[in-house]
Amino acid sequence: MKLCPACRQILDVTCFYSNSATSSKLSVYCKECTKHRVIEYQSTERGKIQNRARVKAWRDRRPPRQHPQRKYPITHFERQADVYHRLLLLGYRVRGEYKIGNSRLDLIVFDDNDSPWFIIEIKKRKSPLTEDELAIRRKRGQIKKYLEICQTVYLHCVSDDLTDFINMILNKHPLPHKDK
Ligand SMILES: [Zn+2]
Repeated sequence: MKLCPACRQILDVTCFYSNSATSSKLSVYCKECTKHRVIEYQSTERGKIQNRARVKAWRDRRPPRQHPQRKYPITHFERQADVYHRLLLLGYRVRGEYKIGNSRLDLIVFDDNDSPWFIIEIKKRKSPLTEDELAIRRKRGQIKKYLEICQTVYLHCVSDDLTDFINMILNKHPLPHKDK
């Protein structure tokens, strides 16, 4: 038990922060009073100046970003258009921003019978989805909805190599007219 000189209550030691600078190794004031005193101090001119200095010091200490954020980053539309053009040039019957029911598909490719052949979703995330994440999405959410339209849904993540991705498509869905 310890007396807090601010609220004049005798409180359990767990009501005090630890502080290696004091002989008791506990903060002078109880946690509640410490919080109030900090808020009060931070609203004073001296407190505001100190707070700004602390934020600045923290900013200066922070290591520089490895990859500085682009001012005008590549947009979702551009990535989508990139895949769209590659498939179109190869001869796929691809459509972008295609509406089926309530879904607006990033990209959909139709086969020669005008049936949906496969769907491609462009994902913003940098890491590819894990098998577990995929399994969850197949059961509910966007992918589940897409699977009702078409049996094959591919996700193309931002970090994926586009050439590898296109090659995978070519491999799994060879164009019929190429054999003829
Ligand atoms: Zn107190």
